[in-house]
Amino acid sequence: MPHHQLIVVGGGLAGLRAAVEAKASGLDVAVLSQVHPGRSHSSAAQGGINAALANHPDAHDDTPEKHAFDTVKGSDYLADQDTAIQMTKDAPGVIFEMDHWGCPFSRFDDGRIAQRPFGGAGYPRTCYGADKTGHYLLHTLVERAYERQVKMYIEVFVTSLIVDEGRCRGVVAYDMINGGFHAFTADAVVMATGGAGRIYGNSTNAIISTGAGAAMAYHAGVPAEDMEFIQFHPTGLLTTHILMSEACRGEGGYLVNGEGERFMARYAPKAMELAPRDITARSITTEIIEGRGINGEDYVHLDLRHLGAEKILERLPGIRDIAIHFEGVDPIEEPIPIRPVQHYTMGGIDTDVDGRTRLPGFYAAGECACVSVHGANRLGGNSLLETIVFGRRAGMAVVADLEGGSAGGGDVSAAGSAAVSAMEARVAELASRGADGADPYAIRAEMIATTRDYFGVFREESVMRTGLETLRRLKERCGGIGLRNAAGVFNLDLMRTLELEGMVDLALCVAEGALARTESRGSHSRTDFPARDDERWLVHTLAYYTPEGPRLEHAPVTLGTFEPQERKY
Ligand SMILES: Cc1cc2nc3c(=O)[nH]c(=O)nc-3n(C[C@H](O)[C@H](O)[C@H](O)COP(=O)(O)OP(=O)(O)OC[C@H]3O[C@@H](n4cnc5c(N)ncnc54)[C@H](O)[C@@H]3O)c2cc1C
Repeated sequence: MPHHQLIVVGGGLAGLRAAVEAKASGLDVAVLSQVHPGRSHSSAAQGGINAALANHPDAHDDTPEKHAFDTVKGSDYLADQDTAIQMTKDAPGVIFEMDHWGCPFSRFDDGRIAQRPFGGAGYPRTCYGADKTGHYLLHTLVERAYERQVKMYIEVFVTSLIVDEGRCRGVVAYDMINGGFHAFTADAVVMATGGAGRIYGNSTNAIISTGAGAAMAYHAGVPAEDMEFIQFHPTGLLTTHILMSEACRGEGGYLVNGEGERFMARYAPKAMELAPRDITARSITTEIIEGRGINGEDYVHLDLRHLGAEKILERLPGIRDIAIHFEGVDPIEEPIPIRPVQHYTMGGIDTDVDGRTRLPGFYAAGECACVSVHGANRLGGNSLLETIVFGRRAGMAVVADLEGGSAGGGDVSAAGSAAVSAMEARVAELASRGADGADPYAIRAEMIATTRDYFGVFREESVMRTGLETLRRLKERCGGIGLRNAAGVFNLDLMRTLELEGMVDLALCVAEGALARTESRGSHSRTDFPARDDERWLVHTLAYYTPEGPRLEHAPVTLGTFEPQERKY
């Protein structure tokens, strides 16, 4: 049974940054990942990463405090202000560190890291590498992790936590290459499995972004925080939902409706196309609902033609490739058909500013966590930043806690074996129903259509109630799922089936949280409660697992620096 001081689940930016940090302090660290780390969803990030470097000619007086203010205002005041301030303070240092580790950022002519404008930001402060920023950052960290000899277990699919005497002591995983379940025991576990976008039917996320880590934590009693806040990105390709980065608008792209208008003038006259995502997604959706989509249909245009071929080829080459290959449109010649799609999970595993959770020995960082820097709406470029800042901090916290003697100690092989047996029993039960059991793929298809259609950009009580009833019925059907094929290697049927119930559970957290929150804030926009209600709802939602469905509690938001105001752009 492999044992390591620290096990990191997930080889994306957050996981690798945590691993590299802990390894540098001498811990024995292993990363477990379902795919090669370089193929994590972080590599799909296009537009950039924020830090108040003040490199842009229009940003000479930018500061981390201004970045924190934009973040908190962007969050519709639901972000914890202490964590937002910490993130923006750490930002320049972690960017310079990535630069020194070899990340090929785009540069200005004077050699400094280039920065571009992004939505909801008072200054151009988004650092980038063309439109492949996530790829560059991730590969820099992959190299760093190998160089530091972090142990990599690649193509292992983690299914559950090992909890012994109230402390997380490792994970159980399916070995995709050789088949079978194994325990990986540890003194501490950092969860870094990324977002839960695939609980929606119209997501920009990779198919492995299913919220597995958040679901495992939730099942182990750690609350899921603020799950009702789902980010809809304004510009997903019409037919495939693939992302057209916010950098398209950062570089000057227009949003145009069926009447040829730059309609953002109606909704955000100052910021125009660079309004925050929640506002821009609502504006596009309103244009479509009111019949001003292109040819009256449910999309509008992202028009880059006026930027000219040279700028598009230099700054947005990947966007052009994707538009050509997936939509048959060359942005140099034609406008791109787009509409809002699910993009980001603001909520997640409830953590403190150092990635600690309420379960001793268990930490989380990156998109699966909710340290609460994004609140009700994340600003573009702040998520890549979050992964690196809080991945690093989680790594430091593990080192400090283990040095402080809180390792738990003792032999956990018995707990590990018991956890493996429990997982094998679960698989045997699913397999015993075989093709006679409920069809997991039918359940998944209905779930992702329900979240998409009933918990979208605009929400309303009666619609959400119908959606919630459907999700509850799907949860019941999960109890009778059948697995057709339990054995073998690279058994995708097994993996997709095992993760399904967790996905439905997270969808229920979204649904219950959204119904309970009788206000509009950030991405959560209710037509029946259109105003923000700070008196009652300036609070986080905490969802605790029960077999009957999530039990909701609410907890205060950390305020103290920025007074909540009305958001105008
Ligand atoms: C298309 C796209 C573009 C984006 N562009 C930007 C941008 O320009 N700027 C920005 O700030 N943000 C952007 N984001 C958001 C940002 O990229 C993500 O929030 C961030 O990269 C998430 O990193 P992570 O380390 O938390 O997780 P990920 O990079 O998603 O990595 C998750 C890891 O967990 C592993 N894993 C998952 N489940 C399991 C399991 N059960 N067992 C074992 N391993 C598992 C996976 O193998 C993977 O290694 C974008 C997101 C998308 C989808």
